[in-house]
Amino acid sequence: MTSLQPLADPGQAWGSACEQVTAGLFQFIDNELAVPERLATRRHLDACPPCALEHRIRLLLKGLVKEACLAPAPQGLRERVTASLNGAVA
Ligand SMILES: [Zn+2]
Repeated sequence: MTSLQPLADPGQAWGSACEQVTAGLFQFIDNELAVPERLATRRHLDACPPCALEHRIRLLLKGLVKEACLAPAPQGLRERVTASLNGAVA
């Protein structure tokens, strides 16, 4: 048996500090937290592997969303949206 066990019940395994940190992770990533919260989050992430993993997942997710937003829209989408808007106005 390995030492890696899945979290059976995240609510039990994670304390309220973890809940606070994960609730503010996107603000942390976007640099929108005040300095004390940012420092506390950084310290928590350095000491808490589950939250550090969550941080990495959200960074990855944010990168994927950004990439998807930069990709050109499928051909014909602009025409379909424009036609739909014109139909809604008419
Ligand atoms: Zn944590």
